[in-house]
Amino acid sequence: MASQESERTEIERLDREYTLGTWTRQRDFDPTEIVDTEGPRIVTVDGDSILDFSSQYVCTSLGYDAERIADAVNEQIRSVPYVNPGWATEPRARLSEKLAEITPGSLKKTFYSTSGTEANEAAFKIARSYTGKHKILSRYRSYHGATAASLSASGDPRRVAQGPEIQPEVPGMVKGPDPYAYGSSLDPEQSLEYIDEMLTLEGDTVAGVLVEPLVGSNGVLTPPDDYLPRLQEIAHDHGALLICDEVMTGFGRTGEWFASGLYDAEPDIITMAKGLTGSYQPLAATTVTEEIATHLEDTLLNQGHTFAGHPTACAAGVAAIETYEQEGLLENAREMGAYLKSELESLAERHPSVGERRGIGLHQGLELTRSEEKRVPFEQRSDKVSGRTTVLDEVGAHALDNDVYFYTSVNTIVVTPPLTITEAHVDEAIDALDDALEISDAAM
Ligand code: PLP
Repeated sequence: MASQESERTEIERLDREYTLGTWTRQRDFDPTEIVDTEGPRIVTVDGDSILDFSSQYVCTSLGYDAERIADAVNEQIRSVPYVNPGWATEPRARLSEKLAEITPGSLKKTFYSTSGTEANEAAFKIARSYTGKHKILSRYRSYHGATAASLSASGDPRRVAQGPEIQPEVPGMVKGPDPYAYGSSLDPEQSLEYIDEMLTLEGDTVAGVLVEPLVGSNGVLTPPDDYLPRLQEIAHDHGALLICDEVMTGFGRTGEWFASGLYDAEPDIITMAKGLTGSYQPLAATTVTEEIATHLEDTLLNQGHTFAGHPTACAAGVAAIETYEQEGLLENAREMGAYLKSELESLAERHPSVGERRGIGLHQGLELTRSEEKRVPFEQRSDKVSGRTTVLDEVGAHALDNDVYFYTSVNTIVVTPPLTITEAHVDEAIDALDDALEISDAAM
């Protein structure tokens, strides 16, 4: 990857000079120019064709050549590129109808925004309006977004203690334990009891219990099958709504449209983004049950964005859902997920630094360990101030040298390829990972 001024292309130099990089000390912001894509691969300016087993923060679930979406966006831009959210457009109406069909339970009406962060912010306001309570209970290992309330609801150990921009958190956010059998002293059953007790101790002032059904960037934590329905019951017993953040897990990633459907839960609110358009356009959504929608008939929905339900983004959403359906991508996620799982299991057997494989479908991960018996993690995060890299960073960098890109986060290699992959792609990624894991084995 380019790092010396003299080696940078003109675009890399301009970008470095005039763009502020996200979540980083700017000294470390040195992005490589991407000039093309092909299937599940991105192509660098140097001609490296990199197999993308991250889907770019779990966004590009449809890979990079979904012609149907390109056509739909193009057509929409030429007819009604934009009107404000007070007008009806065909793509928004069709997308809302489709979301009512594919979301679990009685979820029916959708509020639109442009990021997962905003989708969660809207969920908080709606839950508060519906319940007349104000707190949000989330979990310690979670990521729900970057603005004040969504970030305060995030328990992400990489970010919570990062500095004055983030602290103090907004009031009314409480956090409970996760179903994390491998790395916590509480088993999932005890973690549920703990949350039950917390809701009592908070005096039933919690409006919504917010969870990623299958945790993403905080280590692909996978709950037992009955966890989510039981959490729903506990939340409802305390007069709180169950809000499922499916920003990463939605749209076929687990082999079902939504992970909450996989677990037979019926959330009161689902938030989504990323896979909604396969990230061909920025679009996010907050879908609520018919009951909540009825409540909102006579109550002000005190939230809105200029770009809410942007016609061009909604056109991409409709075309993306058609692509998932017509190309059988949920089935492929199940089939490739089973194959990927068995290959990752055998990597876990061969490499002592792999503590545990977790995940479902094409949402999987390997947690690394410094000591097999004690389950000691390597450092959890790179030091953003000193620029110090972790063993996990090194494993990721080595795989990238072998032209396979993984998202690495919180001691975990997150394995989330596009839903369009074949067995040959899995084999290629596993070979690269097999080689890269020698680094963590040697660091034990
Ligand atoms: N929720 C989850 C589960 C996420 O993984 C993310 C982003 O990665 C967000 C919310 C925030 O979404 P965005 O970055 O679009 O604001």
